[in-house]
Amino acid sequence: MRHLPIILSPIPTRYHCPQCNGNGEINQEICPLCSGAKWVDISTATNWVLDMMESQGCDTSEINELRETTPDPLTLGLFLELLSRVNK
Ligand SMILES: [Zn+2]
Repeated sequence: MRHLPIILSPIPTRYHCPQCNGNGEINQEICPLCSGAKWVDISTATNWVLDMMESQGCDTSEINELRETTPDPLTLGLFLELLSRVNK
């Protein structure tokens, strides 16, 4: 059995913009989420994921609870990865 390394680094502090999939634009318009930067910081990414979950029917009170916590960056990255695959 292999052991996972205790320290997974580097932990990303910015993420491919989930709104435009890192293109910086959507339908030739500048992406409203990242303003064309193609990257977003962790709080922007977190809010995007939570808004997406809420729009998909997740319980609002549970979402609001999550908004008050800082999600694990690796978990957040996984969510973004999954959501970007679903959106394609
Ligand atoms: Zn964007």
